[in-house]
Amino acid sequence: MMRVRTTCPYCGVGCGVAVEATGDGVAVKGDPNHPANFGRLCSKGAALAETLGLEDRLLHPQIEGRRASWAAATETIATAFSRIIERHGPDAVAFYVSGQMLIEDYYVANKLMKGFIGSANIDTNSRLCMASSVAGHKRAFGADVAPGCYEDLERADLVVLVGSNLAWCHPVLFQRIEDARRRRPDMRLVVVDPRRTATSEAADIHLPVAPGGDTALFRGLLRALERHGARDAAFVAAHTSGVEAALEASAPFDLARTARETRIAPELLARFFDLFIHTEKTVTVYSQGVNQAADGTDRVNAIINCHLLAGRIGKPGCSPFSVTGQPNAMGGREVGGLANQLACHMELDDPAARARVRRFWRAPRMADRPGLKAVDLFDAVHADRVKAVWIIATNPVVSMPDADRVREALRRCELVVVSDIVATTDTAACADILLPSTGWGEKSGMTTNSERRMSRQRAFLPPPGEARHDWRQICDVAAKMGWAEAFAYADSSEIFREYARLCALENDGARALDLAGLTALDKAGYEAFEPTQWPTPKGARGGMARLFADGRFFTPSGRANFVVPGGRAVAAVKPDYPYTLNTGRARDQWHTMTRTGRSPTLARHIGEPFVEMAPADAAREGLRDAEIVRVISPLGEMLVRLCVTARQRPGELFAPMHWNDAFAARARVGALVAPIVDPVSGQPALKASRVRIENAGAV
Ligand code: SF4
Repeated sequence: MMRVRTTCPYCGVGCGVAVEATGDGVAVKGDPNHPANFGRLCSKGAALAETLGLEDRLLHPQIEGRRASWAAATETIATAFSRIIERHGPDAVAFYVSGQMLIEDYYVANKLMKGFIGSANIDTNSRLCMASSVAGHKRAFGADVAPGCYEDLERADLVVLVGSNLAWCHPVLFQRIEDARRRRPDMRLVVVDPRRTATSEAADIHLPVAPGGDTALFRGLLRALERHGARDAAFVAAHTSGVEAALEASAPFDLARTARETRIAPELLARFFDLFIHTEKTVTVYSQGVNQAADGTDRVNAIINCHLLAGRIGKPGCSPFSVTGQPNAMGGREVGGLANQLACHMELDDPAARARVRRFWRAPRMADRPGLKAVDLFDAVHADRVKAVWIIATNPVVSMPDADRVREALRRCELVVVSDIVATTDTAACADILLPSTGWGEKSGMTTNSERRMSRQRAFLPPPGEARHDWRQICDVAAKMGWAEAFAYADSSEIFREYARLCALENDGARALDLAGLTALDKAGYEAFEPTQWPTPKGARGGMARLFADGRFFTPSGRANFVVPGGRAVAAVKPDYPYTLNTGRARDQWHTMTRTGRSPTLARHIGEPFVEMAPADAAREGLRDAEIVRVISPLGEMLVRLCVTARQRPGELFAPMHWNDAFAARARVGALVAPIVDPVSGQPALKASRVRIENAGAV
């Protein structure tokens, strides 16, 4: 029997998983010693063993649909990339990667593109998930950091969940809050969400905010905090900048205006404000409902402003707290997986940082400006400005906005390389070259969860067929392109050690992402690595649970910044498209179902795609519960089953993001979503598309 402690590959909670693998199969349990979950698992984690079968697995490389050797596939990719770069320059190629990749995979992809090819055209599906939080953190704190930790959610007297159906999307974190509430009945939970969800039903107060009303809500709260004397004057004076401008901009947001702009009843708002004002130990958690908006970064800063004013940061039970969607979204941010960042949180537009990284990598051709963010990247593919794209561990034909156009872009692209575990995704169908990757249980490396905690994923199964690790595929292509020495790693531990050394380089403690304590981690230490929160400064035995306890931030002045949100208006209702379509997750599916779609247990929860609609709207449209409907936007349409439910407010619809052509024809919600992005973060607004709905007739 093989016993392995590893990490769940789904959401950003990053739960520890204890695996027992025998000749008869694999048993999966929560790891009682992992500090993210202490033995708990949600339905998806508990069903991991059902996703390990080899049906549909991609077992051999393919070129134009035919089985090929690794040597031929590697040579073809390297030759094509080199030729395109020579003819059209480095910005004519791109990588589109994923928060499913491990830190080591991400690191070498970023090194190859930014240091050797000489372009910053590497972006990630994490752009769709948390880029607005990254941008908001950098504006407020001077670095992309989550100030608190999971324990803060248990120690708080008030937890506010904004745009987060935590009970379904980060279930173990929600279980931790619920367990804490059972132990401490005075602890309060407030949920800010346009929909009634499993999370809001457990709340003391549910604020059904209007789509686009979040910034107004937190501007109103900022004003209420100030008016009722909740300012931490000493903290604000000593450790922040810009408070007066933020307060002045929030001055018009009295209770009546806030109620009008949020469409929340004034009495409910007043209850929430009163609770927040008088509860010192408050954590505000935010995720996709905040991030996936045309004003996502402003929403993040509007929340952080309130915590700065009240001095509720850097202390146990006090923090603004972003939860990431993916298992290694945080790790991807750390190694520079975003097109606008260098490795180790260094900035691409900082000449000193570029020079430091160039020296460290001995890079022949450093990117000197930010690359294309996800939506712009696929636009450039469509416009033939990017002629070769390598897509790793993600399915943009389903998940990107204007998904039909993304499919068209890939079909007309000169070279599309896709690395995945299966050949059946909508994106794999567009590939010229398909590369078989190792999946969960077969690969080893590091991930970072939402509380900055690095954990090991460990292999307990051999790679099937000819599947290879993503980092190995990238290094082999880099070697063929002429950079063998710089990409000669024996295993993932060597890559991690190099990454830690780069993070530690010239780090005088002024930057958050300090891994100096891990630079000497040898292979045995890497294998035995216990979950640890960064920063891990030199000499530190463990990590750091909370940042900013000393009131020092990572801005040049050392002060946190209040940011005045812009207050972007919600798109006007068009008579032809009278409904606002919200998108999100179902409890028991993950992303585009490449893995969870294999589990019969998970399919029992919700087995098919659907759209939710309020009873009054259904009656007015003449639609009946459970019939098949057509949901139509100016860009595309989907066919799904109608679910008439009072959970949904009139005028608003909800559809899950998961289903796609591999599981149900014409059910990709991404085909309906306009490619509107937050101007600061580049994150697409996935939660407020204009649509109409009609009976599908005979389908
Ligand atoms: Fe996995 Fe997230 Fe569930 Fe934990 S909460 S078991 S990380 S899906």
